This record gives sequence, structure tokens and C-alpha cells, in this order.
Amino acid sequence: MNGTDSLLTFASHDPKTGEVLKEFHITDQANVNAIVVDARLASLAWQALGFEGRKRVLLNWCSVLTENLNEIGSLIATETGKPVGDATLEASLAIGHLAWAAKNAGRVLKSHVRPSGILMFNMKSEVERSPMGVVGVIGPWNYPIFTPMGSIAYALAAGNTVVFKPSQFAPAVGDWLAHSFATIAPFPNIFSVIQGLGDTGQFLTKSKVDKISFTGSTRTAKLVAATCAERMIPVVLECGGKDPVIVAQDADINKAAENVLWSAMSNAGQTCIGAERVYVVEEVADAFIEKITALAKKIEPGKNYGPATMPSQLGVIQSHIDDAAAKGAKFALGNTTSVGERYVEPVIMLDVPEGSLAITDETFGPTLTINRTASIEEAISLANATRYGLAASVWSKRHGHHIASQLQCGMVSINSVIAFAAIASVPFGGVKDSGYGRIHGPEGLMEFTYPRTIISPRFKIPIEFTTFSRTRFADNFIKTLIKFLHSKVVG
Ligand code: NAD
Repeated sequence: MNGTDSLLTFASHDPKTGEVLKEFHITDQANVNAIVVDARLASLAWQALGFEGRKRVLLNWCSVLTENLNEIGSLIATETGKPVGDATLEASLAIGHLAWAAKNAGRVLKSHVRPSGILMFNMKSEVERSPMGVVGVIGPWNYPIFTPMGSIAYALAAGNTVVFKPSQFAPAVGDWLAHSFATIAPFPNIFSVIQGLGDTGQFLTKSKVDKISFTGSTRTAKLVAATCAERMIPVVLECGGKDPVIVAQDADINKAAENVLWSAMSNAGQTCIGAERVYVVEEVADAFIEKITALAKKIEPGKNYGPATMPSQLGVIQSHIDDAAAKGAKFALGNTTSVGERYVEPVIMLDVPEGSLAITDETFGPTLTINRTASIEEAISLANATRYGLAASVWSKRHGHHIASQLQCGMVSINSVIAFAAIASVPFGGVKDSGYGRIHGPEGLMEFTYPRTIISPRFKIPIEFTTFSRTRFADNFIKTLIKFLHSKVVG
């Protein structure tokens, strides 16, 4: 935040050097409210375009994003500090989601007729999905295009206009998205961006938006949910995780080690669905630890991953490592001096007491805990013994599905990691402190609509129920029918 102009501007910084990249104007409350009013007016015309019209606009946006993939990749890399290759992959996956939402909204959200039941057999029952109106999207910094696009694309395709508040650590990515949309927008105010710190996010949740889709920390999510509750507006909360990995006796140890390491350490460990805790059964624990440690020794901060994007996270990572060490954890790689001024060396901790911060709280750094378990049942129980429930990974040749179905979380990868995020047709979201609601897939489209039931008589019947002149015959008819339909005891 700029000291003299304290409420007007803030700066983005290069996480590799700390240098100021650019100053941004903070959108104040009056402007946030005005932008939401404009978005509401635009929402009527956007809805009127219909699924086909919106599909054309959104696919044109896909084309602009794709043509400028290098530019957006390098902008993401600059603001977050991640390698350009990772940043470009992130943008590519976001484009995939946008295309899927654009192409599938009409099919998923089309009105349909439902059976009316014997009692109401003369009625036609239809359910249509209505857009909410204006959706406010609040984004984090770790995947500044992929994560918010999971809401933006699906909300737009469903017929809403969107006001997006990017993270103050990745504001230029937000502006770039808005400018690129403007080049293909049929009219203004379909997709707008507001800038600022937490206050601006709060202005958005307090404005007259019809729904908020928030991605960020659990702590902020609870504040956002409380503000939304005051206005009784629905909210999607995509929060942090403490994702477990289960390695069974029949796992492919080499593949497990290679993939789990990438899941834990890529993007400097700043991945909500990245591996943080491993539970490996005793029989294969030594082999797994030996393999993953050998691979981790080849990883270099500054080459394979960048610095911590948000400098204050370094203190959290340090405190988790210190706490684990103090409680008796062993270190297969790294130690309490692995956290540098900007970069963190890979850290692998073993036999970490379950009450340690490194097990209970989201670390969000290139660190991993590995604990041995006597059985798969114990591994499942420890994996679930957390307040989080975002994603998990299971390594087993024969029992993957059986284990996956017992995990309390929104997404599980068997013999793989994270891939569900790249599959646009499946829902994404968590349980417990990882949040609620879903983005991606048909569920993600439905999330930004509400169902409207419409019924109408198909033909007239001699018995009328909804009238004060209902006859005794009608009452008896209902009783007889209900007894016929539902009095039978089953089993
Ligand atoms: P954060 O909670 O600090 O901030 C997220 C956003 O909320 C920012 O844009 C911020 O300005 C805004 N904000 C802050 N206070 C607010 C308030 N009172 N009202 C409204 N908005 C407010 O989170 P972060 O540090 O930017 O992101 C990292 C977190 O996000 C991690 O916990 C990570 O696990 C999580 N995350 C989750 C997912 C997911 O899909 N589940 C994806 C990416 C990141």
C-alpha cells in the first residue's frame, strides 16, 4: 500500500527480488457499487444473447487468450515468481475450462420436463435454470488465472455477468483478463475487474451481487461467508487443504515418489490441491522414502520452482518446520534452516507427530511429511483426521478405488496426482474447512444458476384439489390413492 496515498493505490512486487512492478488504483466502495449496478444492467442483455450467442463470445475469448498465451504466461510468471512453463500450462488449462463451459452450458442447463407423479398426473412439470444475475468472483494469487477462471467461465456461460477481484499479489493478471475480454465483448460490463486489498473484496461481498465465488484461505472464507449471510446471498468457498497421499503395499513406488514429489514441491508448494502429508504402509515405507528423497535432492529452487509469492508465508513455513523439529520429527531432506529470504529448499520430514502444525495446518511451501502406518485402515483414518477435505492421492495397483471411496474430500486421484483439475467435466471443491459449493463440470455450471420450477395443467380432470369447493369424493380419492401407493411395508 502506498504510504502517502494510503487508500488510493497499492503496488505489486516481483517475488524474486521484492522490487515494485506496478502501482494499481484501489477501487473504492462507491466505485465497486457502481460497477455492480452496471454489471446488473448488462446481465439482462447477456442473458438475452442465449446459450449460442454467449458460446460465440466465450469461444472468441478462448481464441484471444490462446493467441496471447506467451504474453499471459510471462505476466503470471512475473507476478507469482513461478517458472514460465508452469505459468503457460496454468493458462492453457484455464482456456480448456473456458471452452468446456462455453460448449456445454446449453446442454447442461437446458430446461427439462419431469414426471408429475400419479396424484398430479394432469400437470406438466418443467424445471429451468436461471442465471443468478451478477456473480462476484474473489481470487487468490497462487494460480491467478486458472483458479478464478473456474468461476468466471462457468458463471459467464450460465448467463451471469461477473465482477472479478483478483488477489493483490496478481493484479496485472486480472487487468489483462479484463482487457482481453473487452476486445471481443459485444457490449461493456459483462466482465469487469476491480482492484485492491481485502477491503475491496469486502466491498464486493457487501455490494448488490447475487452470489460470491471465493477462492482463498479458510480464515478469509469464514469472513466472506459471514458477510454474505447478512445479505442472504449464496457463496461458493474454495479454500485451503492439507491433502493426504496414501501409499499402499502394492503401489508402483517409483511412479508414486516421482508424482508425489511434483505435487508437493511444484509451484513452491503453493498448490491448494498439492500433497502435504504422506501415509505409507510400513512394508514399502523405506523404499518410498529412499526414492522420493533421492529425487528431491535433484530439485532446485529458482529452477524447478520459484520463490514464495507472498513473503509472509515464509514465516508460516518456518514455524511448521520448527514445530515438527521440536516435537521430534526426523528430516530426510532439509532442516530448520531451509527457509531462505525468498526461496525455500525442499524439506521432507519423517515420523512427524500427528499434533504438529506440519500435519494439522496448511503449510503452502515445498515441504512434505511422511509417516508410516501399520495398515491401510490406519492410513485412511489418519488421512481423514483433519479439519480440511479438499483432495487426496492414492497409490495402489488393486485397491485404489476401495481406498478412495473412504476419503472425506472432494477429489481423489488414484495412481496419479492433481489431474482432475485439468478435466473440465468433473466438479472441483472441498468439504469441511476446505469449503463448499463446486466449480467445473455440470455442477460448476449449475452452481451459478438457480432452479425455477414451472408447472401447468396439461388437461382438465374432474377432481379439483386446489379449491374451497373440493368435494368429499376428492378427499376420499386422495386417501385411497395414497394408501394404494404407499401403505405397503417393504422388507
Ligand atoms: P486470502 O484468503 O488471503 O485472499 C484471497 C482473496 O480474498 C484475495 O483477493 C484477498 O484480497 C481477498 N480478501 C481478503 N480479505 C477479504 C475479506 N474480508 N472479504 C473479501 N475478500 C477478502 O488467500 P490467498 O493467500 O490469496 O490464497 C491462498 C489460499 O487460497 C490458500 O489457503 C490456498 O489453499 C487457497 N486456494 C484454494 C483453492 C481451491 O480451489 N480450493 C485454489 C487456490 C488457492
